[in-house]
Amino acid sequence: MINIVLFGPPGAGKGTQAEFLKVKFNLFHISTGDVFRFNIKNNTSLGLMAKSFIDKGDLVPDQVTIDMLNEVVRKNLDSNGFIFDGFPRTNNQALALDKLMEENNSTISAMIALEVDDKALIARLLERGKTSGRVDDSNEEIIQNRISEYYKKTAILKDFYMKKNRYFGVDGQGSIEHITNRLSSVIESL
Ligand code: AMP
Repeated sequence: MINIVLFGPPGAGKGTQAEFLKVKFNLFHISTGDVFRFNIKNNTSLGLMAKSFIDKGDLVPDQVTIDMLNEVVRKNLDSNGFIFDGFPRTNNQALALDKLMEENNSTISAMIALEVDDKALIARLLERGKTSGRVDDSNEEIIQNRISEYYKKTAILKDFYMKKNRYFGVDGQGSIEHITNRLSSVIESL
């Protein structure tokens, strides 16, 4: 199995790139944000709970997110591997992911980070907000909060994977195609 954690701040392009990589490498794509939004759309109790955090740009509590992720992974263990997009976002989530992989005699092959500067992130998210219909893309204050959650709770995960020699950073600016090529080179080198 090839299991990739696609990493980077909100607006780095993880979702866009995951769409290409999942086809190219035949991987199962899990976006925790998408799973939450699906639940919100369908008015599930998970969706209702998550919405109160997501609309403010706060992270959803760890245990809820971890349980949800575990369930999706367990249902798709027959795949060639996974692209995790938007997970893990905290130290607890990274530990839970390691445990889940271990239980299935697998491992995280690489964390690949899309490096984009903050100014470009805000511009991209505001632009996306014009059509995404996402409350959390709709105003700069919420976007700032999402970026600040990233630096407070998520950015430390770079060290977590660096210590395991599994961290790879790529330039997340430029054309979509160039960025896909940069990511693909890393995956092909694993
Ligand atoms: P995303 O689509 O990845 O930008 O995620 C949108 C929102 O969903 C985030 O701002 C969080 O509120 C929530 N979310 C997604 N993934 C996670 C996660 N791994 N842990 C906690 N909250 C998450």
